Amino acid sequence: MSKVGETTLVLDLSALAHNYHYLRSKIKPETKFLGVVKAFAYGSDMVVIAKKLEQLGAYYLAVAYENEGVLLRNTGIKLPILVLHPLASNFEGLIKYNLEPSIYSKNILTQFLAEASSKQLDAYPIHIKFNTGLNRLGFSESDLDFISDEIKENRNVKVVSTFSHLAASEDANEREFSLNQIAAFKKLSGALNQKLGYAPMRHMLNTSGIINYPEAQFEMVRSGIGLYGYGNEAAVDASLQPVATLKTIISQIHHIGPNESVGYNRAFSSQELKKTATLPIGHADGIGRQYGKGKGIVTIHGKKAPIIGNVCMDMIMVDITGIDCKEGDEVLVFGPDKSAESFAEGANTISYEILTAISQRVKREVKEG
Ligand SMILES: *Cc1c(COP(=O)(O)O)cnc(C)c1O
Repeated sequence: MSKVGETTLVLDLSALAHNYHYLRSKIKPETKFLGVVKAFAYGSDMVVIAKKLEQLGAYYLAVAYENEGVLLRNTGIKLPILVLHPLASNFEGLIKYNLEPSIYSKNILTQFLAEASSKQLDAYPIHIKFNTGLNRLGFSESDLDFISDEIKENRNVKVVSTFSHLAASEDANEREFSLNQIAAFKKLSGALNQKLGYAPMRHMLNTSGIINYPEAQFEMVRSGIGLYGYGNEAAVDASLQPVATLKTIISQIHHIGPNESVGYNRAFSSQELKKTATLPIGHADGIGRQYGKGKGIVTIHGKKAPIIGNVCMDMIMVDITGIDCKEGDEVLVFGPDKSAESFAEGANTISYEILTAISQRVKREVKEG
């Protein structure tokens, strides 16, 4: 891997291809694949990842918000894009950029139909979201008549899919709950199909769902975290390759005497002689304050260097006592050899959070496959 002169997030597109093919190998050949690229493709680079997924043969993309979809359209992405969480104020942009809304409530349905009618849209693609237990977004059984009454004779829109989301797909202890969600979704989507008189695609599984509930693939699956190389369990992680590697560099080395302190609020105070390295990465780059005081550990020449004291906005200081290194040497925060999941665990969080936290200030470097 090339040497860095500044904090850099290196994105390995051959790892993305590997993960895509691995996840595809877990589903039936005829099952369609939706790549989730919300939140800058889990903190990487939404445009680069979306283009690669288009090349790899993904059938759909999904983002959370309308402005993410607009960004993709403005860079020439042609795949259909599902917007998981549109708001009424987004409808004009959605339609202008040919983005497909998840319709998750009576309120959103009514307002979208009004917009579709005023723009005289013809069979505009929409996706009906059912709530089967996550209790976050989605219609319930008692809304079925309302949905079909509103949509059935309506030429302005066409339901291209129905979908739902599992609450605990990675948790074997919640297997019964997940199976109940799947059964509920089957029932709800079946009932809606009956009322509409046609059968839109159905999709329910996220990455861990693909691994744990192969019987619920329906016509499409939706994967995010797996594409980026994380599978929510060690056995799956072993088959995936992290796409993102976060590297930085030692700016300065200090020798700290006993009774000296390091950083703001003197949060670290030294009992003995210590060697510290100052790194050009801080909470404004995504290394939150929860990683301070030993919770976050970086790697220098294969050796562990814990963050000492408080995380600053633009810097962290790490303990390099006993590590043979010098100013200008490379530092690994996370990557294939030290996963973002293990870095996140130190601060009691998950791969999703540390990955999506890496801010836009951090330089991205793309490694082609
Ligand atoms: C984010 C998201 C996904 C992707 O989940 P992963 O666990 O990252 O695979 C799928 N579906 C919905 C509705 C989501 O919000």
